[in-house]
Amino acid sequence: MKCRACTKKAVIKLPSHNSAFCPECFDRFVLSQVGRAIDEHKMIAPDDHVLVAVSGGKDSLALWEILTRLGYKTTGFHLDLGIGDYSRESRGHVESFASRHQLPLVVESLREEVDGSVTDIARATRRPACSGCGLSKRYFFNRTALRTGASVLATGHNLDDEASRLFGNLLHWHDEYLAKNRPDLPAIEGLSKKVKPLVRLTEKEMASYAFLRKIPYVLKECPHSVDAKQLLYKKLLNEVEMASPGTKHAFLFGFLERIDRFYPDSETPDPEGAFLSPDGRCERCGEISWTPVCSFCRLKERVREELARNGEKEPRPT
Ligand SMILES: [Zn+2]
Ligand SMILES: [Zn+2]
Repeated sequence: MKCRACTKKAVIKLPSHNSAFCPECFDRFVLSQVGRAIDEHKMIAPDDHVLVAVSGGKDSLALWEILTRLGYKTTGFHLDLGIGDYSRESRGHVESFASRHQLPLVVESLREEVDGSVTDIARATRRPACSGCGLSKRYFFNRTALRTGASVLATGHNLDDEASRLFGNLLHWHDEYLAKNRPDLPAIEGLSKKVKPLVRLTEKEMASYAFLRKIPYVLKECPHSVDAKQLLYKKLLNEVEMASPGTKHAFLFGFLERIDRFYPDSETPDPEGAFLSPDGRCERCGEISWTPVCSFCRLKERVREELARNGEKEPRPT
């Protein structure tokens, strides 16, 4: 098998692009796909300051590395979820990546802020751990973007993540989510713009990139993140992809070409209606909020109540 670009020995086969590449040409391919996503969706301007949300997994660390290689000004942001070995390892990979590349990094601890663990949050809200975790991440991302002066927040969602999310949203016709199923969400009301520059690259391509670039990342899965449905959607889409290479890409990008026609108002995302609080700020923490007390402060309150009810002063270990 020869590289399609230079005829050297190919190491990676990409049936969806009807291509195979040697390591050097694959590297160029990945950078060009990210560059194309950024250009086509006007994700990042040359003078933007990008806050990169890094979990310690392959996608987000690779994204941080790629944006740096492309010359963007970046700061990493990691939220330590306090989930035992998984979090210790994730944080370790993020911190050593930042120091190896001499890049600025902000780390926050969920446990310190909430005074409880992810398990406490799940018990207090009576919802799966992932929902409290998602809410917390959104809160910290927005807060850190404001504090660091970052104009864009970038996350490592890849083509598989976005296509399977679209698939799930379509199966249930979740219009409100479909309208936001795009790799670029504009800035609103003081919140920074949100972008997904890896949207043109698959899970497999990102794993190959991280391997070839020798980027160490956490291999453990989060013990809470077994979103069975999402995994099923990914598996189903991969089966279709095997039988008909390129389908995953056509599915997602066909939708994105039509999204403004299907959802013409998606340019004005407004999660919970107009501001209820007089100045659009949470009266407890002062962060941007759609309600007088923001959802994160309400979450903290519920965790405190739950711990008090159970007579626990200390958060239980995870
Ligand atoms: Zn080549
Ligand atoms: Zn608040």
